[in-house]
Amino acid sequence: MPFTAEHDALRETVRDFVSKELRPHAEEWEAAEHFPNSVFERMGELGLLGLRYPEKYGGQGGDYFTAIVLAEEMARCRSGGVGMAITVQAEMATPPIFKWGTEAQKQKYLVPAINGTKIAALGITEPDAGSDVANIRTRAERVNGHWRINGSKLYITNGVRCDYILLVCRTGKQEDGAHGITLFLVDKELPGFTVSRKLKKLGMFSSDTAELSFNDVEVGDDAVLGEVGQGFYNLMWELQGERLIGSAGAIAGAEVAFEETLQWCKQREAFGRPIGAFQVNRHKLVDMYTDITVAKNFVYNVAEKWNREEYPVSEISMTKLVVGRVTSTVADTCLQLFGGFGYMAEAGISRYFRDSRLIRIGAGTDEVMKEIIAKTSLGL
Ligand SMILES: Cc1cc2nc3c(=O)[nH]c(=O)nc-3n(C[C@H](O)[C@H](O)[C@H](O)COP(=O)(O)OP(=O)(O)OC[C@H]3O[C@@H](n4cnc5c(N)ncnc54)[C@H](O)[C@@H]3O)c2cc1C
Repeated sequence: MPFTAEHDALRETVRDFVSKELRPHAEEWEAAEHFPNSVFERMGELGLLGLRYPEKYGGQGGDYFTAIVLAEEMARCRSGGVGMAITVQAEMATPPIFKWGTEAQKQKYLVPAINGTKIAALGITEPDAGSDVANIRTRAERVNGHWRINGSKLYITNGVRCDYILLVCRTGKQEDGAHGITLFLVDKELPGFTVSRKLKKLGMFSSDTAELSFNDVEVGDDAVLGEVGQGFYNLMWELQGERLIGSAGAIAGAEVAFEETLQWCKQREAFGRPIGAFQVNRHKLVDMYTDITVAKNFVYNVAEKWNREEYPVSEISMTKLVVGRVTSTVADTCLQLFGGFGYMAEAGISRYFRDSRLIRIGAGTDEVMKEIIAKTSLGL
């Protein structure tokens, strides 16, 4: 097991926080399709937004498994959108700032993201480019010693409430594809940066998802993150972490759904016995338990490599693919075992059924994962 006594203590702290300060509000936040920004501040105060960043930036200096503990425990809050928003903040938008940011960028963007006073978003996807990241069209052009940004981004988590966005822009020609892309850190308050729409979704209700537009947004060279023209390659690194932590959270969500379903199957009676006593249902439970255990251990195995700063691209893609399969099956099977109640809005399982579908799309679809595995492992 990769977890030490320190990880166990962290788990206890997060579990306690989630059960006392998040879970009691889950229903209200789902109905409101929003949760308050004070959650970021509170988690910043508790040190949970900077678990693996150095202390000099306000972090806790932990290893990658501290992030896994957080992702796993956030899955217990019953509102998937909260965990997703926090993961974007701590594990998606900010790692590139820590890795490639100047000291000034770290002070301006990383430190307040760690203490929860600024909210971060990550802007890759566009109306005409999602899987095909190298084809993005949001442009940053050099004008009078500045960069002028024009374009739009779609499905951006934290997009409505963010204070800044890590924005993926084209700085080269369209035909340069992956070679002409650069990352920028763009403040929300800048003129020309607008939220065009807050989007309605199938699930993850409490997180905000936005369409954003950029009309002649001017930034200086100090907004460039990393090297001009290297954005695509830097982003590919970021996406590995995003897929791995997303998988850790998703399989933990499956485990929570399974635990609740197991309890239900022991209590709910039909034809004079608990429904879990029917062999067909017992076997369904065993199959889920086995699949979750195997997938979770694969996540840990790959996470150990990531923690050692290896770059297991193919295995990370496999992780996301397998976790997506397992969570889809678990969500469907658990809902079935809950019967009519499973279909009711008030049942946690119906929310899980909707929320869990995202893992097979966000941060790269199943099909994109297969393309990566085919290329990197099979030479196809
Ligand atoms: C709730 C939510 C939150 C999100 N948050 C963010 C965020 O914070 N930031 C961000 O930048 N993005 C975000 N996304 C976007 C997400 O990463 C993209 O939706 C995803 O990468 C797929 O891109 P697309 O929607 O453009 O689909 P498309 O690329 O249009 O794909 C459509 C279908 O075609 C398939 N397809 C595409 N190419 C191939 C191929 N080569 N071979 C086989 N099949 C293919 C896909 O697998 C898919 O099934 C979010 C999405 C959702 C739903």
